[in-house]
Amino acid sequence: MQHVLVIGGGVIGLTSAWWLLEAGFGVTLLEREVQVGNGASYANGGQLSYRYVSPLADAGVPLKALHWMFQQDAPLRFRPELDLRQWRWLASFLAHCNAAANSATTAHLLELGEASRQAMAELAIPQEEFSWREAGKLIIYRSRPALDVAVARPDAGQLLSPAQCVRCEPALAHVEAALAGGIFNPGEAVADCHAFCEALMRRIAQHPRFQARVTGAAHQLERARGKVTGVATAAGRLVADHYVLAAGIASRDLAATADIRLPLYPVKGYSLTAPIRSGDLAPQVSVTDFERKILYARIGERLRVAAMADLVGENLTLDAARVQGLLRQVRATMPQAADYAQLATWAGLRPSTPSGAPLIGASRYANLWLNVGHGPLGFTFACGAARKLAAIMHD
Ligand SMILES: Cc1cc2nc3c(=O)[nH]c(=O)nc-3n(C[C@H](O)[C@H](O)[C@H](O)COP(=O)(O)OP(=O)(O)OC[C@H]3O[C@@H](n4cnc5c(N)ncnc54)[C@H](O)[C@@H]3O)c2cc1C
Repeated sequence: MQHVLVIGGGVIGLTSAWWLLEAGFGVTLLEREVQVGNGASYANGGQLSYRYVSPLADAGVPLKALHWMFQQDAPLRFRPELDLRQWRWLASFLAHCNAAANSATTAHLLELGEASRQAMAELAIPQEEFSWREAGKLIIYRSRPALDVAVARPDAGQLLSPAQCVRCEPALAHVEAALAGGIFNPGEAVADCHAFCEALMRRIAQHPRFQARVTGAAHQLERARGKVTGVATAAGRLVADHYVLAAGIASRDLAATADIRLPLYPVKGYSLTAPIRSGDLAPQVSVTDFERKILYARIGERLRVAAMADLVGENLTLDAARVQGLLRQVRATMPQAADYAQLATWAGLRPSTPSGAPLIGASRYANLWLNVGHGPLGFTFACGAARKLAAIMHD
């Protein structure tokens, strides 16, 4: 039996571990924290957005970004760093901001989305273990031109008028007059990504081919003659036949220890979580407020709101002005959806590639494999990406 060391216990590392076990490999999981799923996978938007993948790099985005730089509560923020990696990533991102690149990435991500939907169903983790629900997804548009562009996209669903949006999701009643319309995709789901990670870890731990869970940070990929020969970690040196790099944004620094330059940047986002009381008008379907780039999902008895794309480096500080700005917009859109006085706030780093497409598969070392760069939709793509990686490694 071939032995694989999976580095990273977020949703990508855990799904990789599972599908590698299923493909016949022995697996050891290395995670620097005591608990799994505490990085970007912790309190993300919870949307399993298989049919609406919308890569950020698109024609017109650079102009919009310039406009956002002068808006107080803008969805995007940019702080220049003395870090070449930021500028390299930005240059490549701008090169992908055109219709042709966007449609190529969209087609690829839609395929990965469909594979993920099937793979997650195959996994058959009981829905109640991770608050999974086929909620459907409504994308609301406040401007007619944006709606017209969206309707023509290959990931468009059913077109709704403002009144139909409110019939579909009564929690939007307050903003009906501000809407140009919406697009509804009935098959989309929501779930708790962190609970999914924990549930999957329990299954992994019981798998007959699972070797061990090691707690400790990897520091260095050791290599010789075109292969990785071991990993230096806080828990000692670990050796395997194959190594899978799935450490979210930290994969960038780890890869650099073996002279691999991964085109990843940490796109910081925020989430707010508030309990839903009986009598609150919380959304049942998941909602994306397109122009504001704010996602709303009901996860069990909590409202989860996720938003913001801040290009401010590897920085997890909760910026109070950003949180307050987001809360203002949430209250204005869904004033009675949850108990906003009991808010939990969180920030995470989306490990993002310039195009929006993740890197899944081989590296320049024969036995080092990548599953990184899932950006804003890592929960959505995790199962499909892991199954794909296991198939590549098995061949
Ligand atoms: C605000 C926000 C909202 C989002 N909303 C959604 C959404 O609605 N739907 C969706 O599909 N996706 C969403 N995402 C994206 C999704 O959360 C990420 O793409 C996904 O969690 C990335 O998973 P990962 O396993 O690659 O990274 P992580 O979850 O960060 O996992 C990496 C793991 O590696 C470990 N690690 C790091 N360094 C080392 C080391 N040296 N040694 C050992 N272990 C290490 C970390 O501790 C961590 O556990 C959102 C992200 C954010 C920030």
